[in-house]
Amino acid sequence: MASMSSTVERFSCVGVSAAHEHFMVFMVYNSGMRRAALLPVIAMTLLSCRPAAPPDPGWLTELRPAADKLIAASQASEFAWQRLAELTDTFGPRLSGSENLERAIDWAVAQMQRDGLENVRKEPVMVPRWVRGRETLELMAPARQPLPMLGLGNSVATPLGGLEADVLVVGSFEDLDRRAADAATRIVLFNVPFTTYGETVRYRTQGPSRAARVGAVAALVRSIGPPGLRTPHTGATTYDEAAPKIPAAAIAAEDADRFQRLQDRGVPIRVRLQMDAHFEPDAQSYNVVGEIRGRERPDQIVLVGGHFDSWDVGVGATDDGGGCIVTWEAVRLMLQTGLRPRRTVRVVLFTNEENGLRGGNGYRDAHMAELPNHVLLLESDGGVFDPAGFGFTGPDPARATLTSIAALLRPLGADTILTAGSGADIGPSATAAKIPTMSHVVRGDYFLIHHTPADTIARITPKQMSDNAAAIAVMAYAVAEVPFRIDGR
Ligand SMILES: [Zn+2]
Repeated sequence: MASMSSTVERFSCVGVSAAHEHFMVFMVYNSGMRRAALLPVIAMTLLSCRPAAPPDPGWLTELRPAADKLIAASQASEFAWQRLAELTDTFGPRLSGSENLERAIDWAVAQMQRDGLENVRKEPVMVPRWVRGRETLELMAPARQPLPMLGLGNSVATPLGGLEADVLVVGSFEDLDRRAADAATRIVLFNVPFTTYGETVRYRTQGPSRAARVGAVAALVRSIGPPGLRTPHTGATTYDEAAPKIPAAAIAAEDADRFQRLQDRGVPIRVRLQMDAHFEPDAQSYNVVGEIRGRERPDQIVLVGGHFDSWDVGVGATDDGGGCIVTWEAVRLMLQTGLRPRRTVRVVLFTNEENGLRGGNGYRDAHMAELPNHVLLLESDGGVFDPAGFGFTGPDPARATLTSIAALLRPLGADTILTAGSGADIGPSATAAKIPTMSHVVRGDYFLIHHTPADTIARITPKQMSDNAAAIAVMAYAVAEVPFRIDGR
């Protein structure tokens, strides 16, 4: 039996909180971030970190051989990486309402059946269908030059032929309020350097309506991500119904800095923006569900999953094809190794997280009666780089159990349990039935490629996929196998 005391020293608990689309996920070491921005967060997380795992409660020793078997099986092949490659190579981007997404969903169902998952099914959800169309941004003054840009999801179009206006650069909402008189008839650029996603994403979600309220004709947003290779990042914006809807797009950090310098020198900046973006009628889509049924309490469910839809500009390898494949793989590994846990482990590939959350809401509505039977909801939507552990939100006794279980993940370097964890897709069910939630936590440059054309499998190694699948398999298996419900119900 391995010594439990060394668990104490291994707890490094370095984390950065970052709001993903709707809820909080936890990322560890976003190396693209500035040190200064990280330090207070690290200090805060260290203070709130649980110092040690409790002593081995007996059941932990019994779980260890199964955990080692799952880890060995996952590390013995590149199956998860190959499956993610097949998904992203074959079907490409999977925006809600697209044929690509629905073809990928049918493929996932067929593959799950081939894997031997049980109760494989598609659960219908209607999803919005936003279409980007053609879009361009051209600098007209002080010099003519086409600029890389990406329209924001949910944006409306420009008038036919585009619109041309002077640009007002602002550094915050307060700055916009101070210069409200200058914003009328202009295009407002929110130039707010990326610190954390949680701090800066509001300029993308709320910026366009804030600008519209003071008379702006369009909004540009410095991309929500660290500087890349002059890379714009898309992502959803949310219009305030009380304000006029104006077209909205993201530009690269480098161009936002240039606009700032021009304005600071008193040089007028003029651009022409053209966008065809629009909504078409809602489309039929599906959540994909598969299981390994519990051998003693099949009615009790440990849910793992991610979202199968992606933005239209990359192929959604990191966000969130990888999260879908590693959670699915967790169930496949249990079947492959003949480890059928006491409770059911259910994988759900949610549709439409990025621009609607209809999959997460649809799961809650379709499963309302059995939500109290859900022991834990675990989402992987923070990338599939080097595994670090899990974030957890739930009752203290459950946290103590999970902290014990985390010792089984030490061979993967994934034995940290952070103070909070959730996910956009599991949020609605968690809220409706007070179910404990977990986020899968990794170390990596998630926000460098987030919502960009660079979100491809080239950024992910086979070992990372295998290790993440192993970590989730061990965690889900253990929670489904322990002799008691971790949530105390
Ligand atoms: Zn995502």
